[in-house]
Amino acid sequence: STILAIESSCDETSAAVIKDGKVLSNVIANQQVHEAYGGVVPELASRAHQKNIVPVITQALEMAKVSKKDLNAVAFTRGPGLLGALLVGTSFAKSLALGLGIPLVEVNHMQAHVLAHFIDTPKPKFPFLCLTVSGGHTQIVLVRNYLEMEVIGETLDDAVGEAFDKTAKLLGLPYPGGPIIDRYAQEGNPLAFPFPEVNMPKLNYSFSGIKTNILYFLRDKVKEDAQFIEKNMADICASIQYTLIRILLHKVKKAAKETGIKEIAIAGGVSANAGLRQALTDLAVKQQWQVYIPAFEYCTDNAAMIAIAGYYKYQQGEFTNQKVSAMPRMKF
Ligand code: ATP
Ligand code: MG
Ligand code: FE
Repeated sequence: STILAIESSCDETSAAVIKDGKVLSNVIANQQVHEAYGGVVPELASRAHQKNIVPVITQALEMAKVSKKDLNAVAFTRGPGLLGALLVGTSFAKSLALGLGIPLVEVNHMQAHVLAHFIDTPKPKFPFLCLTVSGGHTQIVLVRNYLEMEVIGETLDDAVGEAFDKTAKLLGLPYPGGPIIDRYAQEGNPLAFPFPEVNMPKLNYSFSGIKTNILYFLRDKVKEDAQFIEKNMADICASIQYTLIRILLHKVKKAAKETGIKEIAIAGGVSANAGLRQALTDLAVKQQWQVYIPAFEYCTDNAAMIAIAGYYKYQQGEFTNQKVSAMPRMKF
């Protein structure tokens, strides 16, 4: 089977081609327009998707050396994400499938982040746990099979990616701040400024309190020394990152213990974080886990993950019809 996949849930316009389970191309257009606003502006995202979608798809087909008439299906992100952004990909996928007379396959963006692990080797063995950490979500997912997964823990307020981005903003860093905190953290002392760890019941998370703690901490310090942030950037970033990672891994440990599962994966944009990757790798040795860390290109939003998810759904004959519409709050 040859499938074209389209991703447009947030601020990346992406298209990929997958043939018999092998990704042949994965084109991503990042939207720079949001940087000036310190976050994604939904209206601007939709407009940029409209501008990018045809060239991105054309390039994905060209790179894969596949023509439209070779396609067996079109897969697309139905949700979760920004309504206006999702609508662009959804409408395009629907018209393309209708025009070509081929099936449509809808994909859940968060399931796709998890299934990104099946693009390359080594592939996790079922059942496994996946810590999905991104700009909008923080979930511990129990993955029983390709299309059978359950969220067993999640954040009750902010996502961890949001915590990274919002604290970066407090530090005067540009959006998205996650990767910048990561870079500074590599030169800082993670124990320089201890922040309290918020412990939520069960396997759940909360990151809004941490953000507030950091806000007050910075406010007090800047009152004493106006240059505090500039002078201590590396140590502040290392300390914030260390705290966020500890909170994340604490519940992963708990989930592994409760379920007895030792196959542990991470996914989503924050799984690109060097500190998290290292901490998980170290913990795996102690806990005797087998850990799975995605390639950088498959951590943040991309259509290759939509393609692999679409491939498994296509194989199961799980098609959708022309009545389908974008679903901003789509669940598993
Ligand atoms: P969702 O998948 O929940 O709908 P999203 O698609 O916006 O949200 P992703 O593209 O998967 O999220 O991830 C983007 C997030 O990942 C941003 O919050 C960004 O700051 C964060 N991120 C990316 N790289 C790093 C890094 N190296 N360290 C920390 N955070 C990072
Ligand atoms: Mg993004
Ligand atoms: Fe995402």
